[in-house]
Amino acid sequence: MRRTKILATLGPASSTPEVIARLVDIGLDAVRLNFSHGTHESHAALFGLVREAARKSGRPIAILQDLQGPKIRVGKVRPPGMEVPTGSQLTITTRPVEGADGVVSTEYADLPRDVRKDETILLDDGNIRLSVREVRGRDILCDVTDGGRLTSHKGINVPGAALSTGALSAKDREDALFGLRLGVDFVALSFVRSAGDVAELKDLMKRARRTVPIIAKIEKPQAMDALDGIVAAADGVMVARGDLGVEASLEMIPVFQKRIIRVANRAGKLVITATQMLESMTTNPTPTRAEVTDVANAILDGTDALMLSGETAVGQFPVETVRRMSRIAETTEEKIYPFDRAVSSVTDAEAGDFTPAVVRLAGHAARECDPKALLVFTRSGRSARLLSDERPRAPILGFTSSEEVARRLALYWGVLPRLIPELESVERLFAVAERELLESRLARNGDTVVYVLGSNLAPGATNSLKVARVGDVERETRRRGR
Ligand code: PEP
Repeated sequence: MRRTKILATLGPASSTPEVIARLVDIGLDAVRLNFSHGTHESHAALFGLVREAARKSGRPIAILQDLQGPKIRVGKVRPPGMEVPTGSQLTITTRPVEGADGVVSTEYADLPRDVRKDETILLDDGNIRLSVREVRGRDILCDVTDGGRLTSHKGINVPGAALSTGALSAKDREDALFGLRLGVDFVALSFVRSAGDVAELKDLMKRARRTVPIIAKIEKPQAMDALDGIVAAADGVMVARGDLGVEASLEMIPVFQKRIIRVANRAGKLVITATQMLESMTTNPTPTRAEVTDVANAILDGTDALMLSGETAVGQFPVETVRRMSRIAETTEEKIYPFDRAVSSVTDAEAGDFTPAVVRLAGHAARECDPKALLVFTRSGRSARLLSDERPRAPILGFTSSEEVARRLALYWGVLPRLIPELESVERLFAVAERELLESRLARNGDTVVYVLGSNLAPGATNSLKVARVGDVERETRRRGR
């Protein structure tokens, strides 16, 4: 059993029912719909295919919508592109001109106000590096320190500037409303700079009357400065190493990755590690030694989930890549994973909220009693989330009567979601859980298991821990019946 979850970006290489079904069959836990590409129609079609494949497999699969965010881009460049030689000058202007002969446009009107003299501007994921010489009205005159070839709509990054763009562009708002109507399970927000950015998306969800967990993508040095607040405001974070590598120096990526994972772990929030995890498998059937080690190290750092991007979206080997990632995770967990340690230290429980305390005791019981499984009955998913943070060796069966929650649980480390009907008594819960344990062969009669539940079955009312042997419930029921 693999505990670390795998999230794959869908794209042209993985958009047929056959490929999606194979990905689900080999254990994919979640998919990402990347709204930097595609149309609402193409995303709706993928959404339908994933739900169908999940229905056929009987396994809940989470769908994460990734909003493009306020990404600044250059405008149209005269085909086939323009040379921007090192040592030359390039003007970025907000005037609507076609890019050519040392001038390129951007639609972001505030850029001349947001940048300062000597500031670094990066184009095309950092392939072209500029230094601001002077701002003249709508024009930013730059010296080209690292030249290259520039084509239409490439990204602009200004690592040092506090850009005055909102957290959500008009396109993001439209996309988010579309995704919420479609029924996505998570929404990821790109280029988050502060907790306020997360609040802006939360607000939109509230007004749309559908709130789903928000994953804040950490890809700006500014976000690192505001990390604690962002983690507190969001439901999870993504170590978005692609843009982080452009906005910060490449050498800082491992430093940031370890810090982001540690902060998210401590706060009991979901953390996803993303980008170039098995990049060479975009064109090769086997990964490099360094990539295998990188995947293993992200797991050892404490990530809940691993994300694939181009490898599954446009790569030649989407199925093999997921299979390989799964094998690396299984081997890392089997051979070196430091199980049975609490990674979260949630201390913000309100009076009367017993869940963190009960879950911590369950983690302790698991460490002492070596159960075959932990069984948690969860309405919102929170108890399962916290139990996952105990990082137990045994699988966590997350029982819920909500399909939406079951899909969310699919991304939580070590949690196997199980959809059950709404039950009217605690005895019935135990009976259903025992049957599931036996049927899925996770435990046999007489094996030790740990239960976490709310004894009055109300939402948010987790208050009970029970350590028992499989079969106890049935024996007890029979004894009482006699
Ligand atoms: C990243 O930058 O690492 C990332 C995950 O975001 P995107 O793929 O949307 O650029």
